[in-house]
Amino acid sequence: MGLLVLKFGGTSVANIPAIENVANKVAGEIQNGHKVAVVVSAMAGVTNQLVAYCSEINHVFDPLEYDAVVASGEQVTSGLLALALQKRGIQARSWMGWQVPIVTNDVHGKARIQSIESEALKKSVMNGDVAVIAGFQGVTPDGRITTLGRGGSDTSAVAVAAALKADRCDIYTDVHGVYTADPRIVNRARKINKISYEEMLEMASVGAKVLHTRSVELAMKERVPVQVLSSFESALGSDLPGTLVVGEDAIVEQEVVSSVTYSRDEAKVTLRSLPDIPGVAAKVFGPLADASINVDMIVQNLSPDHKKTDITFTVTRADLSKALEVLKNIARDLPGTLVESSADVAKVSVIGIGMRSHVGVAQKMFKTLAEKGINIQVITTSEIKVSVLISDEYTELAVRSLHTAYGLDHGG
Ligand code: ASP
Ligand code: MG
Repeated sequence: MGLLVLKFGGTSVANIPAIENVANKVAGEIQNGHKVAVVVSAMAGVTNQLVAYCSEINHVFDPLEYDAVVASGEQVTSGLLALALQKRGIQARSWMGWQVPIVTNDVHGKARIQSIESEALKKSVMNGDVAVIAGFQGVTPDGRITTLGRGGSDTSAVAVAAALKADRCDIYTDVHGVYTADPRIVNRARKINKISYEEMLEMASVGAKVLHTRSVELAMKERVPVQVLSSFESALGSDLPGTLVVGEDAIVEQEVVSSVTYSRDEAKVTLRSLPDIPGVAAKVFGPLADASINVDMIVQNLSPDHKKTDITFTVTRADLSKALEVLKNIARDLPGTLVESSADVAKVSVIGIGMRSHVGVAQKMFKTLAEKGINIQVITTSEIKVSVLISDEYTELAVRSLHTAYGLDHGG
């Protein structure tokens, strides 16, 4: 019999019937003989509403009071779930972040967990009580309430699981797990049974938003097995119906490619006729970094005459106009340089740890896209990922064809 941390996201606790359903899940795991700590999100939509209230008062607000307001959504859910458990004859107690305490730094609105003093919590859980912990919340060393950034309750759950040395952290949400591709565009996508932390991190970085990225980093560092599963199906976490995110060594059959992902949140910028001399890239990317613009894919062409070169890179669509503004100033110092941009692009990636030991993975990607007449504009690779930038009208076609080409189709 183990110690489990169960986390329920906003849609899983959206209303009272949903909270009753969650209480039944918790009761089921207790019946299975497990000790349980629960981490909850705010009821669906509540955090958005709280954020909107703050902006309605003032567009620029004091982050300390922002945290005091937005942290309250989780307080409501944890109390309600404790009540629903008590109704079932289960001893349950709510814990706010400051009561555990989950100590964070003082970067309000985006705080990072520094330590969890888990002794009292552990004692209570080992005693058979269900601890219902408000996710998303922390407290600074001098006692002010903080929040961990939007989506941060996944990170709360993994941090609590690490502190309690739990056997597993089950993240209940509104999807059945992690898929080989977005099921909304690939109807032959399959739920993945086991995926490595590394693959999950790459997926998060290219736009598959199942888990808060920091929660995966933390799980990897602390070696916490995490399961993503749906709270709307009858199976309990200990039936292992979802996707397990674990260390590579726990995956026996490593797929060469385990998923195909895409992101439409991309824009492409090309700088033409830059002087081909040392320091130019630094001159371009330094000011972009200073403006907090995250640059993703970068390619620089070799110049045939060693005089002029072109650089192409991508930023998020939301950052494009800010990036162009910054580049206008830079181009003034670099006579003859032209700036071009386009937001009609998408990034498609194939990810898999098996890539490390297989050749020809990228080649298969290029061939598949060529056969569909899809032009590749930019290519980047990491040890376990190949990404291409294409015209966004071909996103669906590209993802579906690659899904088939790498043998990921349902029944394929
Ligand atoms: N309630 C917070 C949010 O909506 C934290 C979370 O649900 O993970 O961002
Ligand atoms: Mg979430």
